[in-house]
Amino acid sequence: LDPDVLVKESRAVVDFIANYYRDIERYPVRSQVEPEYLSKRLPDQAPIFPQPIQTILDDIHDDIFPGLTHWQSPNFYAYFQANASTAGFLGEMLCSGLNVVGFNWIASPAATELESIVMDWMGKMLKLPSSFLFSGGQGGGGVLHGSTCEAVVCTLAAARDSALTKMGGDGITKLVVYASDQTHSTVQKASKLIGIPPSNFRAIPTSAASDYALTPDSVRSSMEADIAKGLVPLYLCATIGTTAVGAVDPLLELGKVANEYGVWYHIDAAYAGSSGICPEFRHYLDGVELADSFSLNPHKWFLTNMDCCCLWVKSPSSLVDALCSNPEYLKNKASDAKTVVDYKDWQIALSRRFRAMKLWVVIRRYGMANLMEHIRSDVAMAEHFERLVAMDRRFEVVVPRKFALVCFRLKPRFQGDDPSELNRRLLEAVNSSGQAFMTHAVVARMFVVRFAIGATLTEMRHVEATWKLIQAKADGLLLNGSC
Ligand code: PLP
Repeated sequence: LDPDVLVKESRAVVDFIANYYRDIERYPVRSQVEPEYLSKRLPDQAPIFPQPIQTILDDIHDDIFPGLTHWQSPNFYAYFQANASTAGFLGEMLCSGLNVVGFNWIASPAATELESIVMDWMGKMLKLPSSFLFSGGQGGGGVLHGSTCEAVVCTLAAARDSALTKMGGDGITKLVVYASDQTHSTVQKASKLIGIPPSNFRAIPTSAASDYALTPDSVRSSMEADIAKGLVPLYLCATIGTTAVGAVDPLLELGKVANEYGVWYHIDAAYAGSSGICPEFRHYLDGVELADSFSLNPHKWFLTNMDCCCLWVKSPSSLVDALCSNPEYLKNKASDAKTVVDYKDWQIALSRRFRAMKLWVVIRRYGMANLMEHIRSDVAMAEHFERLVAMDRRFEVVVPRKFALVCFRLKPRFQGDDPSELNRRLLEAVNSSGQAFMTHAVVARMFVVRFAIGATLTEMRHVEATWKLIQAKADGLLLNGSC
């Protein structure tokens, strides 16, 4: 690693990335390639001799770009965004550049201590109860994972081991996990991964009547029915901002049920949790004080480049009990004295990236003021888009919008009409145009188009132009039967 080469070549890479952002609107948002396109373009053997960085960058431009779906395009409205930013990029550069591996405190004290500090900063910005903070003095604290999936696996493992210790013996086949039919599939996957029988996962139905939120009564009756069968409720996951339609579960009421039945209560706020730093959205987090754990992804809506998931737990010791390993070669005075946090015991892997550096740079470079502005401007654009949809009588907004996700569809044209196929064709027409990319959800057997605003470069003019594109494609479909 030659610092002079690093300077020269990293400049070339930064210039390349900057040009990518300058030109990003020129590329089709959703990649238009066919499967296996790349093997037709790249050699099937690794090179024996080194190649110049410029040749590699040229190949990225010519061969890789066509196969990219441009998540940072201002016309990317699919899934939930992965919002990049200059500070997020610089933070990621520092994380990669320093490349330390802070699995325990001694392996890089600053990495561990910065993570604990940043997790408390985040917790305070979100006005989390002090029981989730290191500085709260009640044993709680936070950790950075790469994804919500990992956070959920770890909390489920902690819940499982605490329950099995209490129950004595081998009771895993009795443990039951509760979520809603709108909960992200990651919870079901995590439940399977930690050994809960698939038949003990409850995806409790929701409906339009509750705006697709989980109702406390349905959870209670599901738990009662399981207890009557000799099963043991283990874990309840509530969501702030579900993936399909952005629904918010009633945290406080669900928390009361969870606490009454003694189950681990997790709140997944992967997408919408970041909005809690704005006073006008903080109420969505009310009830978080009843949770055992709470997670959100700054890589979705907090200007932090991939990957970054914040997980707070009230009782880290239960995480550590489930995930701790203590091989001889990692033993050291600080860990033995139990005076430090060893984050390897709060996660699945041993090695870990210095993600706290990235989040710290983001928070410091933008400050709370700009982070709040980022969220507010996305919500304002979504409100505007929602109004545009409502003004066109052929369309309807399907679920009341809470954040920056608008779910809409072309309405049924006559009684008994199922507009699913029509909306599917509309979506494909927009996506194959390359001018915008949206995805869909199916709720209550309704095919809905999701318009998720959150790419960092999106401005009102992009939203308006995309709405015109959607209308034009709808005109083609409704008038001529084709786009
Ligand atoms: N939970 C919710 C509500 C999500 O929307 C998503 C992804 O979009 C996830 C969990 C999964 O997050 P991750 O990819 O970080 O595991």
